[in-house]
Parts: sequence; structure tokens; C-alpha cells
Amino acid sequence: MDGILQQFARVAADPLTYARDWKARTGRRVIGLFPMHFPGELAHAAGALPVILQQDDVPITVGQSQVFSFYCGYNRSIIDQALRGEFAVLDAILFGDHCVQLLGTADVIRAEVPGLPILFNQLCSVLDADWAMTQTQGTFTQLWRELEALTGAPLPPDAVRDSIRAFNRNRALIRQLYDLRRAGKVVLTGRQMQMVVKSSMVMDKAEHTTLLEQLLATIDQSGVRGNPVRVFLSGHLCHAPRPEVLDLVEDCGGLVVDDDLYHGFRFIHADVAETGDPVEALSHWYIDRNHKVPCPTRAIKGMDWEDYLLKAVDRSGAQGLVVLMAKFCEPHMYFYPEIKEAFDRHGIPHLLIETEHEEMPLEALKTRVETFIEIARRKAAA
Ligand code: SF4
Repeated sequence: MDGILQQFARVAADPLTYARDWKARTGRRVIGLFPMHFPGELAHAAGALPVILQQDDVPITVGQSQVFSFYCGYNRSIIDQALRGEFAVLDAILFGDHCVQLLGTADVIRAEVPGLPILFNQLCSVLDADWAMTQTQGTFTQLWRELEALTGAPLPPDAVRDSIRAFNRNRALIRQLYDLRRAGKVVLTGRQMQMVVKSSMVMDKAEHTTLLEQLLATIDQSGVRGNPVRVFLSGHLCHAPRPEVLDLVEDCGGLVVDDDLYHGFRFIHADVAETGDPVEALSHWYIDRNHKVPCPTRAIKGMDWEDYLLKAVDRSGAQGLVVLMAKFCEPHMYFYPEIKEAFDRHGIPHLLIETEHEEMPLEALKTRVETFIEIARRKAAA
């Protein structure tokens, strides 16, 4: 078990090195994907390795001159990596525009790395609009054609269905881990679960799935020891929160039992239909997502992230909520007041942690997390 988790951790810590090695080993294309809504299945079916581009830990230097300092760490880091030549391994980038800041990032990369093909597609952002399904099908059809043009070969529907099956299997295995963790049968820390999900955003699907199967066969199911405070993690879109912040929650007496993080349950929550027209299946997967795990970058009438969170926290048996918010993430900032108000109203302990790309003062944060855990413990006891 530890060996497999270490393999996941290595890939998660350095995704582009994995991509370079994979490319050297297979001679095939690597396609970078922007988070959070484009399916990797189409690039996979085209024979490429779809890699969701990750924020790295390197301080932002050359990228500083190209982007506003009030952009989120993800955007600033992606621009910095592009200017440092880190994306030379990529044969194309698949851009979406789910947030205004990403549009600026796409423009900078277009201007500064002109040799890198960019497939820019705008997914419909109002998911329950009358035109949403037609428009989404049009977008995925266009992406299909663009991938065929990039590879110079037709992309057969059967190949896409095979990729959908491979992705579904991978997601289902990770959901099994979530189920076991929620039920208290296995202990996977916040850091470990992040490594499982983040590596699946990068690794060859078949390879990752084989490792997951081995992990599930060998994982210790002796359950939780002691009496930790069960914690639900929410938020953090687009990029992974620093593992040290997740460690802190557990070092202070918490136990992460569930989440709706993008580098977590949000990424693997839904499958795509394996039969029928693949474009239609992928479009349903996209259009239905806010009914399952609401995303603040997509609009839907009556979509209440806070209502979803109240139910999800209750279902997981969590005794408190930690909201992880990337600094300057506007979509998340718009929704947070509603979440805070709902959790205050229901008397559920919650804590907001704003994360930064730059160094974070963990000592000061530790006091806040310890206080939160103590409040949640007393509340549960009462
Ligand atoms: S949604 Fe938030 S985290 Fe994602 S790119 Fe936009 S501002 Fe950054």
C-alpha cells in the first residue's frame, strides 16, 4: 500500500517529468488540459496522454511581468511555467474559459509560446439554459474535429467509447476509496487522497487503474483509531491545496473524511454513459454536473452550493467544515458568504482558510485550526 501511494505522490509532485518520461517511452503526444470541465476522454481516444496542467511550487519570477499580481496562484504559476519553457513537452493545450482570469492566461500563452497549438473551446456556462445541450454538443464536436486535425487521423466513436470506459473504471475505483473512508473503514489522509486524485489527472489511465486495483486489494481496512474530529474539506478549485495545509488539519486532531475539492471528489464524482453517441454522453456528463457537485464557475437556476454542502457534510458524518479558498479566486469568493451563513444558521463549526501560491504562515494558521478542532469536538460532545 505504501509503495503505491508513494508512486502516486511522486507523479503528483512532478507531473511534467512523468509526462516527459511517458512521451519518451511511448513516442505519443501529450496534451495539456485546463481544469475543470473538459473531458480528457477525447484526447485519450486520440492516442495522447491528457494531462491536467497543475500549479507548481516554484516561486513566480519571469511570469510576474505578464500577469496581474491579483490573479490567483494557478494562473500566475501556469504563465510562469509557460515562460520558463516547462510546457515544451506538450503537443497542444486544450483551453476552456471557465473564469475570466483563465482568458488572460490563454492570451499570454498564445502570445509568448506561439508554436504551441491551442485548442480553445468555450463551454456553455449556463447549464440549464434551453440552448445548453445543443451548444455543448457543438463544442465537443468541434473539439473532436480539432483533435482529428491535430493528429491527422480520424477519431472513431468506438475509440472514444473505450476511453470513456477506461475513465469510468478509474473514477469508480477512486470513489470506492471515498466510500471506505467515509465509512471509517480505511484511513487515507487528506494528503494521500490528494495524491491519488492528482496522479489520476496526469498518469496513463491504464497504469493508474492497475495501481488503484492493487491499492484497494491491499489497503488496511482495520478502521479509524482514537477519537479524531471528522472534517469535510470544501472548495479549492483548479489546483491542489498545499499538502502541508491538509497535514495541519490532521496534526491538530482532525481526520479528513470527505471533500468536494477539485483535486478530490469533484474530479471523480460522475461517470459518462458508455453506450450511444459519445458526444451526447459527454454533453450529459457536463450538463448534469451541477446537480451532483455544484461548481461556482457554472450557473444553474436554484443551484445552492451551501445546500449541497450541508447534505454532504451530514452524509459523511463530518463534525466540521474547512473551506479552502485560493486567494483571489473570484468564483469561490462570490459563493462563500452563502456557505458561511448556512453553516452559521445550522450551528455547524466551520473554518475558512485562504491559501496562497507563495509561502504561507503555517504557525499562525495552526492556532486557528486547533481552535476550530476544539470547538467541533466540544460541539459534538454536547
Ligand atoms: S476558478 Fe478560481 S482557482 Fe480557477 S482559475 Fe479562476 S480564479 Fe483561479
